[in-house]
Parts: sequence; C-alpha cells; structure tokens
Amino acid sequence: MKPVVFIGAGPGAADLITVRGAQRLAAAEVVLFDALTDPALRSLAPRARWIDVGKRGFCDSTGQVAINALLVRQAQSGRAVVRLKGGDPSVFGRLEEELQALAAAGLEAEIVPGVTAAIAAAAAAQRPLTRRGSGRSVSLTTAMTRSGELQASRTAATEVFYMAGRQLGALSRRLRHAGWPAATPALVVSRAGWPDQLASDHRVDSLAEAGVLHAGRPTVVTVGVGAEPIAASRQRDPAAAQRPARQEARLQP
Ligand code: SAH
Repeated sequence: MKPVVFIGAGPGAADLITVRGAQRLAAAEVVLFDALTDPALRSLAPRARWIDVGKRGFCDSTGQVAINALLVRQAQSGRAVVRLKGGDPSVFGRLEEELQALAAAGLEAEIVPGVTAAIAAAAAAQRPLTRRGSGRSVSLTTAMTRSGELQASRTAATEVFYMAGRQLGALSRRLRHAGWPAATPALVVSRAGWPDQLASDHRVDSLAEAGVLHAGRPTVVTVGVGAEPIAASRQRDPAAAQRPARQEARLQP
C-alpha cells in the first residue's frame, strides 16, 4: 500500500505550494481536496481523479467521518492518494482525525508542509511575525470553539486568530476581556497570497469596522507586536525600533 500524502496547498495562488508538494501531486491518481484550494492546482495533476470533500455534506462532523472512510478506501485500493489541504495540513486542518483513521487501518502517511494563513498574512502586509526584543512568541488560535462560541486569549506577544472573519465585533470584545489594551494594533488580512489580497489596520477596540471590507473572504486577524507596521525610519534607527509603532495607516496591497 502506498502512503497517503497530505499536502499543504498554501493559502492561495497555486504557485504557493512547495516544490515537493507539486511533485507529489503530479504523481497522484486520486486527490481529495477542500474548498479553499486553488482550482489552478488541478493542472499539476491533470490525469488524477479529483474528489471535492469540501462540499456540503462533508463539512460537519459526520462529514469528517465520511472523509476518513473515503481516504481509507481509496488508499486500500492501492492507488496513489493525495489529501490536499489549504494552508498547512497541521494547522486547523483536522489532520489528527485523518491520521488516526489511516493508522487504525494500518495505512501509512506522509505530510508535506504548506504555507499557513498566518504566515501568508505576515507576508502580504510585510509585518514580520516575530520582532527582535519585543515579539518573541507567536500563537495561532482558532476563534471558533466546537460549540460555535467565540474565544480569544492573550498568551503570546503576537496572536493570530483564524476563523474569526464573520465575528470581528465579538472578537474585539473578547480580546479586551482577555486583557489586550484597547489601542493594541490589530491587522486584518483576507485572501492572503491571492492577487486580490486585502490588509487593513485597526485597533483591538475598533476591529468591528473591518467587517465590511473583508466580508465573505477567508480572513485572519493578527493582534499585538506582529501587527505593528514597519516604518522606514524605524528600520534605520535601532533605538527607535524598540518603541512600539502607533500608526493607523490603511493599506491595501
Ligand atoms: N490549514 C489552513 C487553515 C484552515 S482553517 C492554514 O494552514 O492556513 C480556515 C481558516 O484559515 C479561515 O477561516 C481563515 O481564518 C484562514 N485562512 C485560510 N486561507 C486564508 C487566506 N488565504 N487568507 C486569510 N485567511 C485564510
């Protein structure tokens, strides 16, 4: 039996997949893919059978069980199976359930990492996620819990929230509750890595205003040090680089 290859497709345009990911995809006979992956990726495996498991019916928890079963069935057929996931498979991708299902069936897996949305957002807005001296830790957090309740935290210098795009007002209140000062920079980036990516600057207490601009698009919210803009003068002056930036610039790459 061939190992099932989990491939991170990256956050957007097909050219953000890794070279290894593209090579493994080219060798696939069956590809199980999610809604977020770029249709242009299909050209990397034109002869494979592409199965959309991001469609309705596969999205809820029963859907996950069906995906696991399909994955196992396809792998047991002896075909070269790829499981293509948006971003990185290990980040909010329900990878553990699929790995467990394969292990339970005695099947092997290989994982090819991808560019996760937090990293793509940092690149889109040119905001390094870590900063010397001031930004020494980054946390990736899903704003949504199993019960559908919104959650926020303050555990790192920079906190990146996934799956919060529809509830920015609620996220703002939860962040304040978690102890983030009202004026903390909050960067909102949607469709990071795509040609139409958008980024906008806010404060923790005014996050709700980003809702209209990013409506209906996959969005991450970066809060804290990693959301601060890099000003040209600050780059040249190491002493000034220690001071936090307080800029309200709006930016749309
Ligand atoms: N495995 C993926 C995350 C899947 S969860 C990864 O590593 O990126 C889906 C969430 O990811 C979305 O709700 C959104 O918060 C975020 N996301 C995915 N693609 C994105 C993109 N191109 N731009 C901004 N956020 C994105």
